[in-house]
Amino acid sequence: PLVLGIESSCDETGVGIVRGTQLLTNTVSSSMEEHVRFGGVIPEIASRAHLDAVVPALQAALADAGVSLADLDAIAVTSGPGLSGALMVGVSAAKALALATGKPLYAINHLVAHVGVGVLDGGALPDNLGALLVSGGHTEILRVASLTSDVELLGSTIDDAAGEAYDKVARILGLGYPGGPAIDRLAREGNPKAIRFPRGLTQPKYMGTAEAPGPHRYDWSFSGLKTAVARCVEQYEAAGQELPVADIAASFQEAVVDVITAKAVLACTEHGITNLLLGGGVAANSRLRELTGERCAAAGITLRVPPISLCTDNGAMVAALGAQVVMAGGEPSGIGFGTDPSLPVTSIHLAPAGA
Ligand code: ATP
Ligand code: MG
Ligand code: FE
Repeated sequence: PLVLGIESSCDETGVGIVRGTQLLTNTVSSSMEEHVRFGGVIPEIASRAHLDAVVPALQAALADAGVSLADLDAIAVTSGPGLSGALMVGVSAAKALALATGKPLYAINHLVAHVGVGVLDGGALPDNLGALLVSGGHTEILRVASLTSDVELLGSTIDDAAGEAYDKVARILGLGYPGGPAIDRLAREGNPKAIRFPRGLTQPKYMGTAEAPGPHRYDWSFSGLKTAVARCVEQYEAAGQELPVADIAASFQEAVVDVITAKAVLACTEHGITNLLLGGGVAANSRLRELTGERCAAAGITLRVPPISLCTDNGAMVAALGAQVVMAGGEPSGIGFGTDPSLPVTSIHLAPAGA
């Protein structure tokens, strides 16, 4: 099916068009630069930017793919999770489009779309897939028994998301916003073993054993790590020493990536999962890609990592999951649904009201 997807959950306005598992276009317009001086995404500014960007993005995507609205088989849109006002712009645009064209509309889960995008890079996803989702708002390990009907949360962060930790630590180090790419770059010049930062929730009382799992065997915590970096910086400043910024960045990144990959591989191994997909904005991180690759290879897990342009927020991922739902015979969502800023990952696409 020919499916158009609209994404507006955070600061990217994305419109993508796919035909089944084939990517036709992926138009993304970001309001990132408007948030830089605030050091984080300001919801009001993001919503307004979506309003300005959504129609041009739609027009650009249709033109680039060389299709008209009449050609579409379905429209898909992110209905959650994300920023309420931001989500509302994409959802309103999608509803208007569906009403005007009479095309079926599918309300899609942004997080599952970060997984579903995998079909655009290598075709259908294997059954019993693991998905390691690392983004600005989430850090989760999922078992995807079926992309369109059965997603289970195996573990997640209990406080900050990994991307959030990158952004906060970048701020502490004076690297600006967004922090992920800046730390990624700087870390290449630093020594990842210079400072031993804590690996959250790895003590035996949290881990337990395979037979008797502890309360957080597959969970992460990054707020203690962020505090440890802040303390470290304070110590250098108190001593009047120059801050080894690259070493701190590299050591912080190693702590994040070490514990993310160790627990994800453990969860897969202990659940008999032999295929893993790495997704979400932080999957753009070079060290995360590298170490996930190494540890999956060592554990006999086949790893799939979509190209970076498909890992960061975009409309093609929404279209891709929408197309999978259409092919699986999923019911359209109607136009009565609302946005859900905290939509759980287990809710893959919204069934029509009253169903
Ligand atoms: P969610 O998907 O949970 O709703 P989001 O959509 O805001 O959150 P994404 O756009 O998927 O998140 O990812 C953005 C995050 O990715 C930011 O925190 C950013 O710092 C981080 N990021 C981007 N590139 C890199 C990189 N190379 N290394 C580390 N982090 C990165
Ligand atoms: Mg973003
Ligand atoms: Fe995202």
